[in-house]
Amino acid sequence: MAATERYDITIIGGGPAGMFAGFYSGLRTAKTQLIESLSELGGQVQALYPEKEILDVAGFPTIKGSQLIAQQNNQFKDFPIDIFKNQTVTDIKREADGFEIVTPQRITHTKEILLAIGNGAFTPRKLAVENIDSFEGKQVFYSVSDLEHFRNHEVLIAGGGDSAIDQALMLEPLAKHVTLVHRRDQFRGLEYMVEKLRNSSVTIKTPFLVKDIEQTPTKQLNISLKRVKTEDQFEQLLVDDVIVSYGFISDNKAVAGWHVQFDEDHRMLKVDSKMQTSEPGIFAIGDGVLYPGKQQLIATAYGEAPTAINAMMQQIYPDKRGPVHSTSLKIKKD
Ligand SMILES: Cc1cc2nc3c(=O)[nH]c(=O)nc-3n(C[C@H](O)[C@H](O)[C@H](O)COP(=O)(O)OP(=O)(O)OC[C@H]3O[C@@H](n4cnc5c(N)ncnc54)[C@H](O)[C@@H]3O)c2cc1C
Repeated sequence: MAATERYDITIIGGGPAGMFAGFYSGLRTAKTQLIESLSELGGQVQALYPEKEILDVAGFPTIKGSQLIAQQNNQFKDFPIDIFKNQTVTDIKREADGFEIVTPQRITHTKEILLAIGNGAFTPRKLAVENIDSFEGKQVFYSVSDLEHFRNHEVLIAGGGDSAIDQALMLEPLAKHVTLVHRRDQFRGLEYMVEKLRNSSVTIKTPFLVKDIEQTPTKQLNISLKRVKTEDQFEQLLVDDVIVSYGFISDNKAVAGWHVQFDEDHRMLKVDSKMQTSEPGIFAIGDGVLYPGKQQLIATAYGEAPTAINAMMQQIYPDKRGPVHSTSLKIKKD
């Protein structure tokens, strides 16, 4: 295992929170590494809803998820931050003058740590039908990363939350036809979006569950839908693609060994007003933290990043003056 770079700040997690913190850390000229377990930066935005139009990021009346992440990538490309993708931090250990950061590939050392891990590494909740693996990535998807794939296709979306409704409305103008299948008559999505859905051309089938998928000789998918709370009421539907939007399972088991304190239900990291966790030198921002009034939004995560980085810099370099605003910081370019 290769050793051993030494950093001022190590950011764990490359979602919108970690990326903005990386940029800001660069502005403060801290020697920084950012470690992300997925193959791409962008967290939930890139992995779960790259094609969604986001309406609540300041400065952008509307922006696609993937475009927002592309802009964030642009924002820190001029700063000498070391970015490591496809690496999951499995352990952190306190040392005399900071921490050891362990991934399966490397051990590095850092003075302070910023956890921007969202709700942990996440995986999609799968459709419980036989042979699902053989369709995944070809005709069964867990997110929409290539809108064009669905053009003029007959599409079934399974799920009843915000994400399922967003996907149905996003594909409606492009697909041949969209059917949304949900196991309850009521939807969990935002009222405004549910109303939009009900006024759209999307066919809503409730309360039904996807029970079986078979490929036809013409390579379409024959979907068997079972009416909930019945044993024998089935309907068949012929589609080209299925998008499963049953949510994601997040896994933050590794963090349990890092001694940082969680809130009562053990899911969120407790932080103080400077975003420091219960462990001195370990800070946390974004969806993974909890404090009174916390909102799990991109805008909130962006605000938390400078608070954390400036507090970390204050601890690492007590004699350095903190910034007033970005133009008071020196931007280094080659
Ligand atoms: C369908 C959907 C729609 C949404 N729409 C909006 C919207 O319109 N507006 C809005 O403001 N918010 C929206 N959100 C919420 C928004 O996406 C989150 O608030 C935001 O992504 C939080 O960013 P984050 O960086 O804290 O966490 P995440 O985006 O979850 O990123 C965390 C990253 O950390 C990585 N990671 C975790 N553990 C490790 C580890 N041990 N080692 C290495 N890497 C690790 C993960 O792989 C992940 O990439 C939406 C969420 C969903 C699911």
